[in-house]
Amino acid sequence: MQRTIKKIGVLTSGGDAPGMNAAIRSVVRTCAYHNIKCYGIYRGYEGIIDGDFVEMGPRSVKGLINKGGTMLKSARSKTFRTKEGRQLAHDNLIKAGIEALVVIGGDGSFTGSMVFNEEYNFPVMGIPGTIDNDIFGTSHTLGYDTALNTVVEVIDKIRDTASSHNRLFFVEVMGRDAGHIALNVGIGAGAEEILIPEEDLGLERLLESLRRSKQSGKSSSIVVVAEGDKIGKNVFELKDYVEENMTEYEVRVSVLGHMQRGGPPSCFDRVLASRMGVKAVESLLEGKSNYMVGIKNDVMDLTPFDQAVKGKSKINKELLRVSDIMST
Ligand code: ATP
Repeated sequence: MQRTIKKIGVLTSGGDAPGMNAAIRSVVRTCAYHNIKCYGIYRGYEGIIDGDFVEMGPRSVKGLINKGGTMLKSARSKTFRTKEGRQLAHDNLIKAGIEALVVIGGDGSFTGSMVFNEEYNFPVMGIPGTIDNDIFGTSHTLGYDTALNTVVEVIDKIRDTASSHNRLFFVEVMGRDAGHIALNVGIGAGAEEILIPEEDLGLERLLESLRRSKQSGKSSSIVVVAEGDKIGKNVFELKDYVEENMTEYEVRVSVLGHMQRGGPPSCFDRVLASRMGVKAVESLLEGKSNYMVGIKNDVMDLTPFDQAVKGKSKINKELLRVSDIMST
């Protein structure tokens, strides 16, 4: 089914991620290519409720592809969680003549879109923007690749100081529910151990592995820990535990925090954002709604919001084995 749409709104919602700007640029330019008006909506759903819209054309997104963050700003909107808030949002969209939305955000943002679509049958398409890569229906979310590169670079630097002082470093990376970042940067930066939310490797195994690495002549060690690691201890508790049990180690902790979300997007994320923007707008024009755009085996794909939200993005177990072998 073809749909006649004359105005599309685009917003960014939830946590920001590198590549969101490139996705906004892509949505705006795809709209221009198809002679559709495009409105940028500031501060996610909060901006719909406030009627904070700006008309955007191909030139208003110049110089944007390489910028981190989101020029439309992001927000978490409590009001949009209420029926009254969504009524106000719908009224404002109708008043502005906006007939469809592209929502760039995480699973929470897609849940909001789904609820809105159920209530008003309002056409919505989602683009997954989050560094955690924890969304079902796509092998990569926007910002994930950039975050991996950012974190690997930082751990390389930490290793310089770790090896100069014969120290053990626990490095905490983002990932409350998903270990994708930890697992990949752990292998990429040559970590001795990687602790993730999906697998409980056990404290004894951690000590064993550190003892082995000491015996094998390694002078410094890096352990990468995801925020939500299954052992259930935070990095500072892990430091205390290892210092109590292995007095030969001088342990330091580095919590990387929000810097992992910043910086210019990698080439991969810029290309992915461009492809996702095109797919999102063209899918709306084809009459589709309530889907998230994703990429699988380098082919663009659509996943219904409910599956994207409920499904679990699984870690690649092969990587666990590779990491084990590499720490020999
Ligand atoms: P991140 O992965 O970075 O946390 P997210 O998109 O999951 O991003 P959330 O804060 O969970 O971030 O959701 C973003 C916004 O989506 C919320 O602030 C709220 O406005 C809206 N939202 C989430 N869940 C619902 C819901 N059940 N009903 C209505 N709106 C919702």
